[in-house]
Amino acid sequence: MTYIGRFAPSPTGRLHFGSLLAATASYLQARSQQGQWLLRIEDLDPTREQAGATATIIRTLALYGFEWDQSIVYQSQRQTFYAAALARLTPETYPCYCSRKQLQTSAQSGNFGFIYPGTCRFKPQDLTQPAAIRIKTPNQAICFHDQIQGRYCQNLAQELGDFVIRRADRIFAYQLAVVVDDAEQGITEIVRGSDLLDNTPRQLYLQQLLGYPMPSYAHIPIAINQLGQKLSKQTLAPTLPTAAKQLVATLCKALGLLGQAPLPATDYTSVNACWSWAIQNWNLNKIPKQLTYDQPLPD
Ligand code: GLU
Repeated sequence: MTYIGRFAPSPTGRLHFGSLLAATASYLQARSQQGQWLLRIEDLDPTREQAGATATIIRTLALYGFEWDQSIVYQSQRQTFYAAALARLTPETYPCYCSRKQLQTSAQSGNFGFIYPGTCRFKPQDLTQPAAIRIKTPNQAICFHDQIQGRYCQNLAQELGDFVIRRADRIFAYQLAVVVDDAEQGITEIVRGSDLLDNTPRQLYLQQLLGYPMPSYAHIPIAINQLGQKLSKQTLAPTLPTAAKQLVATLCKALGLLGQAPLPATDYTSVNACWSWAIQNWNLNKIPKQLTYDQPLPD
């Protein structure tokens, strides 16, 4: 079977160093197996989108020498796929009219914020009100083997409750869109940041209900700064350098953090030379389970 991997950034800001780690790992995992690597822009939610972010992300990836296969897929153009999946899930879903505020005061808190108590499960439908759509969750552990993080289990009913697959403003939830797209694009393996590890059981559950094949998973560790914060746009991770002379050094830094022991950056004459080395020497098993990002980016 041909390997098909992907990188799926949300255009909520520029790429940061944590995104480069995820992009690099997924790219090398695909290229080292002569697989395809697809780029999908997860622009589902216009309210969170930053103007110009999509173009900047694509430009930055190209600058770093990433080469994607096929045309770029945009989630904003795939509403019909999500609507079809939602229709198939109907027997397991119900509308929910509760506001976030109402829920927060009535619900118990868990690891993922509040646990939805199922308030609307047995309420009659009220077509006059905007409703989110929730999916009923099973009271049993959903487990999978992650190639880096090992076995991971979650009981959706107990730890999270019935979750939203379409918001009241009719925006499809990431959980549904990602599952539909990964299946529709024939993704065989998902390599992404471990901040999404605890989203995976929800996605496995939706895959099962929709009869999709299960891809394999590898969640790379999330870079943590000296303050113990995850590197993300929210914690103001430094944006990636884009000056030509910084590219190889930044890529080598990413490879080093991914446990690949690259040569000193000055030994590579270009970004392409660095990629050739990385493809040949890539070993997923060398990626550490956790990493601390405590050094400044190369200038
Ligand atoms: N769009 C998600 C993000 O930028 C990633 C989705 C995924 O890789 O499954 O965090």
